[in-house]
Amino acid sequence: MDAPRPPRAVSPEGSDDPALRPRNLDEYIGQVQVVENLRVYVRAAKQRGEALDHVLLCGPPGLGKTSLAHIIAEELGVDVRPSSGPVIERGGDLAAILNSMSERQVLFIDEIHRLNRAVEEVLYSALEDFRIDIMLGQGPGAQSVSMPLPRFTLVGATTRAGLLTRPLRDRFQIQFNMEFYKTEELAEIVRRSARRLGLRMSAEACEALARRSRGTPRVANRLLRRARDFAEVEGDGGVDLEIVNTALQRLGIDEIGLDPMDRRVLDTILHRFGGGPVGVDNLATALGEERDVIEEVYEPYLIQMGLMQRTQRGRIITANGQQHLGGLVPDPVAVVEGGPGRAP
Ligand code: ADP
Repeated sequence: MDAPRPPRAVSPEGSDDPALRPRNLDEYIGQVQVVENLRVYVRAAKQRGEALDHVLLCGPPGLGKTSLAHIIAEELGVDVRPSSGPVIERGGDLAAILNSMSERQVLFIDEIHRLNRAVEEVLYSALEDFRIDIMLGQGPGAQSVSMPLPRFTLVGATTRAGLLTRPLRDRFQIQFNMEFYKTEELAEIVRRSARRLGLRMSAEACEALARRSRGTPRVANRLLRRARDFAEVEGDGGVDLEIVNTALQRLGIDEIGLDPMDRRVLDTILHRFGGGPVGVDNLATALGEERDVIEEVYEPYLIQMGLMQRTQRGRIITANGQQHLGGLVPDPVAVVEGGPGRAP
């Protein structure tokens, strides 16, 4: 059995500091096209006094989907009702939520690809006709009653757009694919977060931290908090380039933002599977990880960086990936386990 791994500093998942969340579209940095289009759609809906059309936000974890859902409600001047796919277990749960909504309110369903079929079926008519059919009574005497709903807006978020069924996906009139952030945008996010945390931070430190944040605001904010720890304990409280470099080195994060686990993924493909192609299930078993975690958490950034590829026959490491590993000592976890890092 593997010992439980400590949480990764670069994990794009997990909780956030609410103080660092952008509160409106002006504070929302990056995703320029998404933001510009949303401004138009929100204003048009408000001018007409109508609910905004349903919105689907797709993209890897930590890119700002939840923040955007809250901001949409804020910009519309309504409350948001937060929920998530796995939490809504039965059609009745969804009916109860929908029934308690008010006109133009926003329902946010995170991880919407994890809704079960029965719930999804209830959602179809709710989204399209603002009605739900409920069964009254049981057995042969049972009757189906169609109940009207307030005109609400559903904002759905998913890390796995490909897992959404076609009928569900088609019911979102507005769909956005969130992109990884550019370094300048992340540097701006870091600068603003540092200000909010009351932290002195040089421009080059913001840039260096941004460059190693995997294009992901959540990671940037998390690394900033670790850098602050080092600044307070080992420095004079301010975050400069040296502090950033020290913090990231101590966290095992390399110059392009990969941590030991990312390198282990690459290393496993290269050494254990001869560079690939390897099926994701085999890769997951070799790494002792869930398949979903490989697909949702590790792969997107490694692929984006051109270090690995997803082909029809499986995952392969690219020449860039091999080159990147080349300059590094084998990952200690792999050595301890006598596994991936050591095979010829
Ligand atoms: P997701 O729902 O996609 O996993 P979140 O909306 O929870 O991502 O974002 C994680 C954190 O990253 C937020 O709490 C916020 O601090 C920061 N963040 C995300 N997007 C932005 C952005 N565009 N501008 C500023 N900060 C952001």
